[in-house]
Amino acid sequence: MQFIDLKAQQDRIKDKIDANIQKVLAHGKYIMGPEVKELENILADYTGTKYAIGVASGTDALLMPLMAYDIGPGDAIFTVSFTFIATAEVIQLLGATPVFVDIDGDTYNMDTSKLEEAIKKVKAEGKLNPKGIIPVDLFGQPADYDEINAIARKYGLFVLEDAAQGFGGVYKGKKACSLADIAGTSFFPAKPLGTYGDGGMCFTDDADMINKLESIRVHGKGSDKYDNIRIGINGRLDTLMAAILLPKAEIFEEEVQLRQKVANRYNEMLKGYVKTPYVKEYNISSWAQYSILHPDREKVMEGLKNEGIPTAIYYPKPLHLQEAFKGLGYRFGDLKVSEKIAVEIFSIPMHPYLNHEDQDKIVDAIKKYA
Ligand SMILES: *Cc1c(COP(=O)(O)O)cnc(C)c1O
Repeated sequence: MQFIDLKAQQDRIKDKIDANIQKVLAHGKYIMGPEVKELENILADYTGTKYAIGVASGTDALLMPLMAYDIGPGDAIFTVSFTFIATAEVIQLLGATPVFVDIDGDTYNMDTSKLEEAIKKVKAEGKLNPKGIIPVDLFGQPADYDEINAIARKYGLFVLEDAAQGFGGVYKGKKACSLADIAGTSFFPAKPLGTYGDGGMCFTDDADMINKLESIRVHGKGSDKYDNIRIGINGRLDTLMAAILLPKAEIFEEEVQLRQKVANRYNEMLKGYVKTPYVKEYNISSWAQYSILHPDREKVMEGLKNEGIPTAIYYPKPLHLQEAFKGLGYRFGDLKVSEKIAVEIFSIPMHPYLNHEDQDKIVDAIKKYA
C-alpha cells in the first residue's frame, strides 16, 4: 500500500503528460517556455487571483515575496512553529526574525487569539519592527484569514499565505491562494497539485508585487536579464515541470472531491477511536494530509506498519525547538499546543485513488491498535 499513490494518477493521464513532454523537447524552450505562462493563466483563474508567477519551489514562493517586501535584519515576521521548516527558514535566511505564534488545538492552524498578543509584545520590547504575518494552511485547511487580515491591517502588516499544502482548499467561498496580500504554493510531487520535480507559484492581485517578483525570479532583472536593478535569485519554474502540471491541473478539482470522499469515509469510520481532523464549517480542505491524534501513536503506528500500512509524522518537532532556531531563545513550554500536538499526531494514507478495500484495511488496523 502507498502513502500517496502517484502512479494511479499517472496511469489516468500518462498519454497527455508524454505528449506535453515531447512538445517541450520539440520546441526546446526549456527555460520560461510557453507552458509556464499557460499554467500561470490557468491557475490564476482557478484561484480567482489577478496574477500568478511560476517559481522554482514552494520555498522560493515564500522567499521571493519576502524579498519583494525588502525584509531583512531587525524585522519581525509572525508565523507558526507547527509547520514545515521552509515557512520560517525563509525569514531567517533574510536575516529577519521569526516570531512563533501557537496553534489552535483543533485546526492546528495559527491561533488568531494569540496573534495580536504576540505583535503587541514585540512592539513593547522595541527591538524588532513587526512587518508581516505568514499563516500556514496546514494539511490543506485554510487558516482564519478574516481574523488575520483584520489584525494585519490594524498594525500595518502584510500577510503572506503559505498555501504549499492548501492549494485547492476553500475559505468562506474563496479559494486558497487568494486569501491574503500574496500567497505561495508548492508543486513538490506529494503536494495536492504536484509535478515530477520541484516547483511552486505565487498568487496576488497586486500589480506592483508581481512586477517585483518577475524581476526577483530572474536575478533582479530590469529591462532585460543583463540590466540588474536589485538582488534576485534564479527562481524560475522549469518549462518541463509546467508542461507536466497542465494535464494534472485539468483533473485537479475532481481529485479534490475524491479526496473529500476519502476523508468523509475516514471521519465516519474512525470517530471514537482516534481524534479525527476538524475542518471548520466554512472551510473546505484540500486534504494534503489526513492527520489523526492518539496518545500512544507509536503503538498504533507500529501496529499499522506490521500490517503493511505506511504512516508519517507531520511534524515530530515544532520549529521553535529545532537546533536551527536555537538562536531565537525559545524553550520547551513556550508553545504548549504545538508541543502537545507534535507528540500525538500522525498521518495515514490519503490520496484521490485510495479504494474502499485499502481504506477498510487501514481503518480496521487502527481500530485494532488504538
Ligand atoms: C512543502 C512545504 C513548503 C515548501 O515547499 P517546497 O516546494 O518543498 O520548497 C513550505 N511550506 C509548507 C507548509 C510546506 O508543506
